Amino acid sequence: MRIESDLKLGFKDVMIRPKRSTLKSRSQVSLQREFKFLHANNSWEGIPVIAANMDTVGTFNMATALAKNKLITAIHKHYSITDWNAFIANAPKDIGDYIAISTGIKPKDVKKLASILEVNSTIKFICIDVANGYSERFADFVKQTRETYPNKVIIAGNVVTGEMVEELLLAGSDIIKVGIGPGSVCTTRVKTGVGYPQLSAIIECAEAAHGLGGQIISDGGCSSPGDIAKAFGAGADFVMLGGMLAGHNESGGELVERNGKPFKQFYGMSSTTAMKKHVGEVAEYRASEGKIVEVPFRGDVETTLQDILGGLRSTCTYVGALRLKELTKRTTFIRVAEQENRIYTE
Ligand code: 5GP
Repeated sequence: MRIESDLKLGFKDVMIRPKRSTLKSRSQVSLQREFKFLHANNSWEGIPVIAANMDTVGTFNMATALAKNKLITAIHKHYSITDWNAFIANAPKDIGDYIAISTGIKPKDVKKLASILEVNSTIKFICIDVANGYSERFADFVKQTRETYPNKVIIAGNVVTGEMVEELLLAGSDIIKVGIGPGSVCTTRVKTGVGYPQLSAIIECAEAAHGLGGQIISDGGCSSPGDIAKAFGAGADFVMLGGMLAGHNESGGELVERNGKPFKQFYGMSSTTAMKKHVGEVAEYRASEGKIVEVPFRGDVETTLQDILGGLRSTCTYVGALRLKELTKRTTFIRVAEQENRIYTE
């Protein structure tokens, strides 16, 4: 046993220090980024925010809404091939640039990925997603997927430490998904004791990835536009959102009424609810590592999106970043013992 005693921080432990700026208005700020990738001979342009591949978030309807603003949706892995084909037939022509196909690492996942791509070859991103990206089998799977799809942008995760970011990039991924345990409906830290404060995970993993020419996605733990700004400030190239995009018309999950008010279901992908829905049962050897909640219904996602993008533009203005790309360089975090004033929120 060993104890590492350097302090690891989460979003709640810091604020971004304002800096002198020559920007006159937040409308001058550009949130668009352009990326070239480590392996895929490809580039991408858009706003680097991604809807999570959860069936209560990363739906086809979400993809249609987010793509209008050039944001990505990681489509959850439970749609059938027929659903995929029907969606692509109606979707805008450039939708392939703004969706990722999610896949696990079982033989049936490989087959399904191939069938989706066979008919929908313009989809740019493949998201190979497992709860624990530390297994040798996972890195081998990334290697095989890279051999099969030399020109797709491969996202792999989740991990939280630099050495595993490097291993997965060297195995053939372009982008590494970072986050173990910070998610709003995740119970991994409670069930297993395993995890890593998200802000430090981003800082350490971004350094490892950028050193090799790769990128990272900060996945999980953002509960406000300010947290998203902190994730970008810490070095994330992309930020993935679950809970912040749940509860809308475009989100999945049943609409329910409580005391006359509308709510939508939102649940973790390894919650008992999700496992029963998609696999039929919770396998005996595993515990549920996610919970189910009901979030207030919030109408169209466009309104929330404008709130998020407005917040980010404002952060950039406070630190004098004309483009989102400059935000990390312009960020100085201060450690704090307080966040917002909650007098009217409890
Ligand atoms: P949020 O933005 O809601 O804080 O976090 C979303 C992320 O939580 C997802 O992208 C995914 O990485 C993670 N997640 C989703 N469902 C589960 C689950 O059931 N268990 C765990 N441990 N993490 C989950």
